[in-house]
Amino acid sequence: MKSKLEKYYKKRNFEKTPEPKGEIINIKKNKEKKLKFFVQHHIASHDHFDFRLEWKGVLLSWAIPKGPSFNPFEKRLAIKVEDHPLDYGDFEGIIPIGQYGGGTVMLWDVGTYQPLLNFEEALIKGDLKFVLNGERLKGKWNLIKTKPFSKQESFLLIKEKDEFSKNETGIEKFTTSIKSGKKMNQITNDMG
Ligand code: MN
Repeated sequence: MKSKLEKYYKKRNFEKTPEPKGEIINIKKNKEKKLKFFVQHHIASHDHFDFRLEWKGVLLSWAIPKGPSFNPFEKRLAIKVEDHPLDYGDFEGIIPIGQYGGGTVMLWDVGTYQPLLNFEEALIKGDLKFVLNGERLKGKWNLIKTKPFSKQESFLLIKEKDEFSKNETGIEKFTTSIKSGKKMNQITNDMG
């Protein structure tokens, strides 16, 4: 069986990038733990946010060009990318220019999440519903494939209306890392 992380490994040279080499964690050992989610703000060739959900020993990952929005009317394009290793979740730092994703990565949010409905079926259909319990992102969210059941990798991340939704985007005020407290330029300067 191919490793779930094959695409992840193929894109990276670990002699040059500080990103985690990772491994697939045995989920049986992890049974008691709640599922985690991570959001990284990544300024590379394009400014985007990476949204990652722990599932079956890896992080399902989406790149969101505009970042999440607390406003249910602002649907955010989320492009599915390769699964990442679990220990990528709290990575923050610099990916050398010239390497895949070269640029600065800030850990923007961390928390647990609860998948709703049958998540395996939802993944196949491309219609995920879940509750986030992060420091910044909370409440009900949906990730919906723009073409259900297709192999296409375009999704929309949509905040569902609840006590955490807002009538504004609401992410602009969060300009610091939840790991280091640093702003983007500080991460770049301190490590560059
Ligand atoms: Mn990225």
